[in-house]
Amino acid sequence: MFDGKLLIGGKWKTCERIYESLNPATGEVIGRACLAGNEEVTEAVKEAKLAQKSWKKTDISERAGIFTRIGDELLKRSPEISNLITMEMGRPLFESNVEVLKTSEMVKYFANEGKTFLEGEEIPINPNNFSFTRFEPVGVVGIIKPWNYPLLLPFWAIAPALIAGNTVVLKPSDLTPFVGIEIGRICQEAGIPDGVINIVTGDGFTGKSLVSSDIDLVSFTGSSDTGKNIMRNSADKLHRISLELGGSDAFIVFKDADIEEAINGAVWGRFMNCGQVCVSPKRIFVEDDIADSFIEGFVKKTRDLIIGNGLYPETDIGPMVSKEQREKLRLQVEDAVRKGAKVECGGKIPLSLQDGYYFEPTVLTGVSSEMSVMNEEVFGPVAVISVFETMDEVIALANRSIYGLGASVWTKNLDTAMRMSSQLECGMVWVNEICTLHPQCPWGGIKHSGMGKDLSRYGIREFVSVKHVNINSGTDKTRPWWFPYGEDK
Ligand code: NAD
Repeated sequence: MFDGKLLIGGKWKTCERIYESLNPATGEVIGRACLAGNEEVTEAVKEAKLAQKSWKKTDISERAGIFTRIGDELLKRSPEISNLITMEMGRPLFESNVEVLKTSEMVKYFANEGKTFLEGEEIPINPNNFSFTRFEPVGVVGIIKPWNYPLLLPFWAIAPALIAGNTVVLKPSDLTPFVGIEIGRICQEAGIPDGVINIVTGDGFTGKSLVSSDIDLVSFTGSSDTGKNIMRNSADKLHRISLELGGSDAFIVFKDADIEEAINGAVWGRFMNCGQVCVSPKRIFVEDDIADSFIEGFVKKTRDLIIGNGLYPETDIGPMVSKEQREKLRLQVEDAVRKGAKVECGGKIPLSLQDGYYFEPTVLTGVSSEMSVMNEEVFGPVAVISVFETMDEVIALANRSIYGLGASVWTKNLDTAMRMSSQLECGMVWVNEICTLHPQCPWGGIKHSGMGKDLSRYGIREFVSVKHVNINSGTDKTRPWWFPYGEDK
């Protein structure tokens, strides 16, 4: 049984309000975590502010070097951390292990590139004026993250924020408090000084307290509704905000694509992590000539997926993260069926797996724009397939969404690929690829999918302020535009 504490100013503290964290595969309690309130959040922010004074003065190679050590430690402890991730949020161990490896790769990328990321530049004006930019830390960063990648998403903000000289208060998801706590332990063991990273576990109220506290920037990943709340609550304080929000990505298959590859990619993209991925292909569009064979192949592959406890090696799809998330998905399927969608396979809670929060991998066809599966984010193992006839039609269909996170296009024609990549309204386009993540490539969406970028050089810029410095080294005692004005000027 895990016992949760808060990491504040380098000390692990208990708190009065406690909640139980459940294993979604079994519904069993796996531990008790702290529900931090205003008081604890305020204390954590105060410690982070204090620590920032000396942290920002440390050598950047020292700050970056810590993340090389963290990357190595993650690799060493991968089996144990993967196990914890699977127990807390349910996904297959293989996928949890990939998350740990990706996190290690990503923090090492930031450690290696950190120094050159923050190089300022000289701006030519005239021989007497030397102008340059310097990047300075913003201050205390409040990091609020979801449960679907409980290790990777916190670290992709913690690493650049700390390397840039900020300090951090992290609020992990209430569904994955113990991975959050593990992040605190790993950071401490790697030598991050007291107060530089603080962890406050808790729910939305804890997050709200953090947003309303004396922080300087909010780095948020989560649903669009929460993102909007955070934006509203940040207005009075004028915090800077970076928002990575929900998505309803289009997956578009043209008739010249390699159909087998497209089916394999679509099935994996849609059902990995039990369909609970921001960039999962939530709306699949297939050109009419190949629609029947695509749907047939897709359904066959979906039926072959093995659903079960993520700790068992044969499992392809684990449970959903919570009963509430599953109920929301069930209602979306019900709405689609009531409005005329056809269930090609799945569509219900499996009879043989009643203890955890399982939902059968499901394929819906015959969908239309008034169904919630086409208008809202579908965050679970439900694939929604539509048929299109022309490129213009599919561009309009794909862009008919409030979201603009990513999109995936399948074609062998370069013109098609270029045209689609320029006309799709989103922040990332994959061609003949799906859901890949590389630390050196920018990540993030537009429209209701958010603002700002994570990862890459663009990602680290989110955590700094740009200061312009102008040094006049001339000997003039005055300037032509200074007083006195007089008639001659
Ligand atoms: P969520 O918005 O419910 O919660 C995210 C975090 O915000 C949690 O830590 C939660 O406790 C906190 N929170 C809730 N209300 C808050 C408030 N009023 N103020 C401050 N914090 C608050 O999202 P979730 O269910 O944990 O995650 C799933 C969502 O995240 C999906 O929409 C998914 O698409 C999105 N997501 C986006 C990306 C991306 O890169 N764009 C990546 C992963 C997940």
